[in-house]
Amino acid sequence: MNAPDKSAVLAPTVKLLINGQLVESKTTQWRNVVNPATQEVLARVPFATPEEINLAVSNAKEAFKTWKKTPIGTRARIFLKLQQLIRENMKELAAILTAEQGKTLPDAEGDVFRGLEVVEHAANIGNLQLGELANNVANGVDTYTLNQPLGVCAGITPFNFPAMIPLWMFPMAIATGNTFVLKPSEQDPMVTMRLCELALEAGVPPGVLNVIHGGEDAVNAICDHPDIKAISFVGSTKVGTHVYNRASLNGKRVQCMMGAKNHAIVMPDANKEQSLNALAGAAFGAAGQRCMALSVVVLVGDAQKWIPELVEKAKTLKVSGGTEAGTDVGPVVSCAALSRVEGLIERGIADGAKLELDGRKPSVKGYEKGNFVGPTVFSGVKPGMSVYDQEIFGPVLCIAEAADIDEAIAFINANPNGNGTAIFTQSGAAARKFQEEIDVGQVGINVPIPVPVPLFSFTGSRASKLGDLGPYGKQVVMFYTQTKTVTARWFDDSTTSHGVNTTISLK
Ligand code: NAD
Repeated sequence: MNAPDKSAVLAPTVKLLINGQLVESKTTQWRNVVNPATQEVLARVPFATPEEINLAVSNAKEAFKTWKKTPIGTRARIFLKLQQLIRENMKELAAILTAEQGKTLPDAEGDVFRGLEVVEHAANIGNLQLGELANNVANGVDTYTLNQPLGVCAGITPFNFPAMIPLWMFPMAIATGNTFVLKPSEQDPMVTMRLCELALEAGVPPGVLNVIHGGEDAVNAICDHPDIKAISFVGSTKVGTHVYNRASLNGKRVQCMMGAKNHAIVMPDANKEQSLNALAGAAFGAAGQRCMALSVVVLVGDAQKWIPELVEKAKTLKVSGGTEAGTDVGPVVSCAALSRVEGLIERGIADGAKLELDGRKPSVKGYEKGNFVGPTVFSGVKPGMSVYDQEIFGPVLCIAEAADIDEAIAFINANPNGNGTAIFTQSGAAARKFQEEIDVGQVGINVPIPVPVPLFSFTGSRASKLGDLGPYGKQVVMFYTQTKTVTARWFDDSTTSHGVNTTISLK
């Protein structure tokens, strides 16, 4: 929590959303929401009290009684309306997002847009939540499934996609008939709140969507609450593992999408210009604060000669405030994040990696107080070095080398994380080998950030994901519903014999 200062006391407060009302928290614990480009305090966010958290859950539990019976068309139309409202308010949403998170305005619109795609998908829920039916599994007997909502579900989201990730969660949970309690990141909750206001305007009934704010205590309260049936978490591996273990022990369904160290392989036959452009965008865009950021590039064979050109590309990127036209790299989210990234760059040098480009302390005119670090490139990076072993979550690209594709694939599979990866090549055989042998969730073939559209689901392997089912797409319909399998026989009274059958066979 931040010490109260004058500007903070004057800043507006972020509200809780309980039972359809935006309410002021009665807490004594507050944190400032700070513009990372200027240090201006934009708002104060409350750490909800245990009573407020219980109230949000009990309202969600009550609302579930009627919401679960609401017809499919009524549920779907709310999301048709919400997608329209999001489109109409896109500029405002992006401006709030850039102010509190730092990413550039076009990138902020991308953040909202990728969430909007999930809202569009939720509007199609009638087709997605269909059960199955087998006719005549025995004489006069049919078996069919019902995919029924679970009850109160909860979402815990990270700071880096404050629009997209809440939209991965509550639209699909609510469209499938659940009610929801969301706990956004305490670092940038404002755009999330605006999206929730739009959801109310679109017709989400009171109690169906609730929002509480806070940090560790709020998350633990969600993990422990007996009336919460399922939890969706996106964030770091450390916190996600804690949430998974604690909530699973309490009998909840849990899906945790977690940290990353995404590698790209560049084969010597790759299109050089396209590959280097893609690498620079994917490594340094959003200041490297994407869970799908490419943070390690493995140059294979002759591609190792491309380092100087990659560094030249990185140098051309403009570092500035996210609202400035032409900015490529905005600030990192907080002063703490900045000192972490700068500290890791120092450790990289101390560990013996070669600093090809040093982005520390860039001069950014008009934003002298901002949390800026420019594109930074290390070569000669090896496992055991902190810059390789840790998720830096800043605009720092590590270059490693491999003699051939087998060595490169083995290198990536030996990393504990399995979130995203990509290969750049013109060889179909190399691409197919990569796709078959790589143990990573999202795989790009000449696509640097292969985030799946909502016709599919986000995934991950090893330390990047816990739980079987991923967010959005088909998998999340399974996650947010319980399958009930009904086996039914209807007797025709005119032909029924009344003998007792003691066998379990349905023949
Ligand atoms: P984080 O783990 O610090 O925070 C995530 C959530 O957990 C927040 O709501 C926060 O309030 C809460 N939290 C923080 N510390 C906690 C604690 N000690 N106990 C309980 N709850 C706690 O993550 P972040 O820094 O906000 O986000 C960045 C991380 O998220 C990166 O590791 C990134 O890779 C990951 N991420 C993963 C995906 C994915 O789909 N795999 C997507 C986006 C971000």
